Amino acid sequence: MKVFVVNCGSSSIKYQLFSMTNEVVLAKGVVERVGTGDAILKMRAGATSLKFKIKAPDHTAALNIILETLLDPKLGVLENIGQIEGVGHRVVHGGEDATKSARIDDNLIAIIRKNSQLAPLHNPPNLMGIEAAMAAMPKVPHVAVWDTAFLSTLPPEAYRYAVPAEWYTKYGVRRYGFHGTSHRYVTQQAATLLGKPLEGINLITCHLGNGCSMTAIQGGKAVEHSMGMTPLEGLVMGTRCGDIDPAVVLYMISQGMKPEDVDKALNKDSGLIGVSGLSNDMRDLLGHRDRGEKGAELAIDLFVYRLQKYVGAYYAILPSVDAVILTGGIGENSLPVRQMLCEKLTRLGAIPDEKRNLDTVGGKKGPITANGSDLPVWVIPTNEELMIARDTQRIVAGG
Ligand code: ADP
Repeated sequence: MKVFVVNCGSSSIKYQLFSMTNEVVLAKGVVERVGTGDAILKMRAGATSLKFKIKAPDHTAALNIILETLLDPKLGVLENIGQIEGVGHRVVHGGEDATKSARIDDNLIAIIRKNSQLAPLHNPPNLMGIEAAMAAMPKVPHVAVWDTAFLSTLPPEAYRYAVPAEWYTKYGVRRYGFHGTSHRYVTQQAATLLGKPLEGINLITCHLGNGCSMTAIQGGKAVEHSMGMTPLEGLVMGTRCGDIDPAVVLYMISQGMKPEDVDKALNKDSGLIGVSGLSNDMRDLLGHRDRGEKGAELAIDLFVYRLQKYVGAYYAILPSVDAVILTGGIGENSLPVRQMLCEKLTRLGAIPDEKRNLDTVGGKKGPITANGSDLPVWVIPTNEELMIARDTQRIVAGG
């Protein structure tokens, strides 16, 4: 079965075409700058790489050009659109209505619309992608795979905030969590790699990319998570602040900032870039730090310290921890950050192993702590698209 996976942002469409027989990616790429008059299509299929300007005034136009390009006989990946038997869509926010991946119908579209108020930057473009893909491929099942669904198992003491109850009942103010597909993927991988049944595994999974989040997993299910009602809460991120005293927001407004400017500052100008004043990119920051830039050093220290603090908190709430799992661009690649974290977790039983750390890069998975560690730390590359493709295949097959 061939499955097409779509991830639509406000001005981009990321896509992958899978052959599910052996879970191989036949083609993947992105259209950037949709709607600007300056759109670019990038595609890789086997040894062929394409990059060219396209006319994509909207997502529908962009998606049609992606599909036309996939049909190019030179690529040899698709002879006709009918070979695509299922389309999987990443959808960010399902609120309390979405607990698992599901076939898209009118009811589900209404759920995406309803939850747009909780994810105004994400759900509307996700929906544009769904409508464009359903128009282009009306006969195949389309499946929604939610970022929030894996976190729907959090107990009330983890998802409720200690604010007036009406804020929850009337306005839906609670922790929803994000990156769920990534946390679910590495949880399943960890169960296989550690040789444990999914229902018996306890983990602390850390997705460390531009956005960063952490999940406590008990018996294969999420029981605690660091992101909140929005992806702003929790860990220090590339441009987001993570945890702060909410009174800071009111204080800065009282100092003359507009609410929308505070919002932008906390989402776009904080985190690594805010503290360092240099970059939101961990690679760049490590370079700056090595050249003696104090701002970069402080930003990295804050980043790792917040991680350590969260691991400690999750360690305390779980009955046992089989492993800490690192994933995402930083988790998969940033050796110094991983080494710093392992060193900070020695009191909880991690024994850092520099050689293993060095050996586990470029998409490799494995432990970066020594044998005999009471708290093993593993690197497991994430693959959200594959998870979406698997769910789509299962649902198309009637599972
Ligand atoms: P996104 O959340 O946008 O998908 P990624 O998962 O790609 O982001 O992660 C981006 C982060 O990963 C950046 O901070 C980047 O510097 C970091 N990263 C990627 N490769 C490396 C590397 N080789 N060394 C250090 N950091 C890296």
